[in-house]
Amino acid sequence: MGHRISHLKESIRHKAIELGAYRSGFALAQKVSGEAAALYRRWIDAGCHGEMAYCAKYLDERDDPRLLLDGARTVISCAFPYAARHPGPIASYAYGEDYHYWVKDRLKRLGQWVEENYGGSTRACVDTAPIRERYWAQQAGIGFVGVNNQLIIPGAGSRFFLGELLWTGAVDPDEPCTLTCGGCQACVRACPGSALDGFGGCDARRCVSYLTIEHRGPLPAGANLGGMLYGCDSCLDACPHCGQASRAISEEAISEISELLEVSKKADNSDIAHMTSSHYRKLVAHSAMRRVPLAQLLRNAEWINSQTESDTQ
Ligand code: SF4
Ligand code: SF4
Repeated sequence: MGHRISHLKESIRHKAIELGAYRSGFALAQKVSGEAAALYRRWIDAGCHGEMAYCAKYLDERDDPRLLLDGARTVISCAFPYAARHPGPIASYAYGEDYHYWVKDRLKRLGQWVEENYGGSTRACVDTAPIRERYWAQQAGIGFVGVNNQLIIPGAGSRFFLGELLWTGAVDPDEPCTLTCGGCQACVRACPGSALDGFGGCDARRCVSYLTIEHRGPLPAGANLGGMLYGCDSCLDACPHCGQASRAISEEAISEISELLEVSKKADNSDIAHMTSSHYRKLVAHSAMRRVPLAQLLRNAEWINSQTESDTQ
């Protein structure tokens, strides 16, 4: 019986990899640990989620994935690689196809395959579902959560999109990953917004990724965008785990939008400043960037320019 279960697990893992995952692992669907639940509550209570009101919703579901799929017994966590670091003012992941669709499509195909071959029912979750993605990836043995609050896959880095397939079938869970950052702290020093507390916590209100993407309205006084128009890669760039290894696997990554790459090479953001709304919408139609209107990128560009001017005065 044990042999059959291990074969079943390996064949699901193999299928996940065939569909584009770099790693996948299995965890028992149950309540998250008391420590993980309390940490999240403290983050919300301190207001560190800023204007991301959705973070404070569905807390019961966030604590227990069984509330997302009736009878769920297994969380199959998958990590899909995206392209290597591109220098420029747009976070690297945004150059690729919108992961919300890309990852969901892969997970749904995996779910269909699992149901056809092993029965039960499945639900595909990407980061729009209230589920603790990094927690489950760590539980499923894929990697550990670093001081930069990102999932780190040993030897492969953090340039991955995570997705979870909930399944009503049961398998022996994989061993959780128990590695840690040790005393590194390089990401804390590299963070332009001083958003990282050095213990794994991140105050979104100071994070460039949050400020450039999620924060509507005027930017808070003193905000440092680190020269970025959309997102931020600094805590990945600084991380010793995100070096050569993650570049080596980028060939399997989501395909990239070449025109967006061209635009972002303009260090002075002049293409953005002169772009019409319709051109912008077309340019980012397949990128996660399409959720941010052109006016917000212009706000960010103006902020960066005003910071640069005041630095040179
Ligand atoms: S994304 Fe950028 S601003 Fe946010 S924590 Fe990482 S380095 Fe800091
Ligand atoms: S830069 Fe260092 S401390 Fe930060 S996540 Fe990477 S290994 Fe951990």
